[in-house]
Amino acid sequence: MVSLGLRELGGTGLKVSCLGFGASPLGNVFGTVKEEDAIASVNEAVRLGINFFDCSPFYGDTVAETVLGKCLRTLPVPRDQYVVSTKCGRYGGGVFDFSADRVTASVDESLKRLQLEYIDIIQCHDIEFGSLDQVVSETIPALQKLKETGKVKFIGITGLPLKIFNYVLDRVPPGSVDVALSYCHYSLNDKSLIDSLPYLKSKGVGVISASPLSMGLLTPQGPPEWHPAPKELKDACAAAAAHCRSKGKDITKLALQYSLSNPDIATTLVGMCSVDQVRSNVEAAVAMSQELDTELLQEVESILRPVKNVTWPSGRDDN
Ligand code: NAD
Repeated sequence: MVSLGLRELGGTGLKVSCLGFGASPLGNVFGTVKEEDAIASVNEAVRLGINFFDCSPFYGDTVAETVLGKCLRTLPVPRDQYVVSTKCGRYGGGVFDFSADRVTASVDESLKRLQLEYIDIIQCHDIEFGSLDQVVSETIPALQKLKETGKVKFIGITGLPLKIFNYVLDRVPPGSVDVALSYCHYSLNDKSLIDSLPYLKSKGVGVISASPLSMGLLTPQGPPEWHPAPKELKDACAAAAAHCRSKGKDITKLALQYSLSNPDIATTLVGMCSVDQVRSNVEAAVAMSQELDTELLQEVESILRPVKNVTWPSGRDDN
């Protein structure tokens, strides 16, 4: 099998697999996951060339970090062979706290749960729910202090509205934010991240794109109950999935092939929790350009055209 490509993550010097392992499902947010399945999935991911794992204390209210930590302990490779990112500032129970004290304590708590000595990338999680000015003046400086201690290697910001990245990156000292994680904006139904790529590149920021399956909308089984998309978007994605099924095709594969094909996006995170998912996602990633079914892509894009770039509100009104 051809191996999974590695791409440079901005100016970090890290080389990450173009397909990354989203660990939110390990927090049981898409359904219950047995610990043995989690361990097998993470090991299979590494065996097949995935070297990037993304988590957050928010996923399953710390459960995902604890489970990912157990999984990482079982890996037969040295620590420097994989990259772990987690987050701070967003917690279970609807709590957001981007204060310096909280994020500093949060990193220690994450290190313990993940059973790691350092976190490769610490990201301020969904900053549109906090004060962006606080993120600029307090959160990022606090994380920089942690960088000096070696507890974290790189700093990132995440969120849904793309304009939050410009707000922060225009105000922090150059080089103080290493990566930006955008989600649900580079997929078959929403391609709006494309317009932000030149700006992010000009800031030297590595781009991580998450949720190429639009958090389950572009899967045969459909999204979880809590999915925030408006009904017209859910219906259109369900119609697109049904169209693929009627042709004996898997919408997941098409969605991944589309989302992973842009070299300006260092890695694309997919939530995974079974060996079968890992295998089929790696297979789709490896097959990327050779086998893209352009006819099916056009048909699906035409079903999704009425809802192109439709998104949902996220965060505080003043951001
Ligand atoms: P996703 O679009 O990757 O969809 C995940 C869903 O698709 C899960 O139900 C999973 O079981 C299913 N799935 C995966 N592979 C499949 C396959 N081959 N066939 C059928 N179903 C399959 O959404 P996501 O998990 O929300 O996003 C991926 C990761 O990105 C997260 O785990 C997280 O690490 C990261 N993320 C971060 C943020 C943020 O920082 N704000 C937001 C969203 C996602």
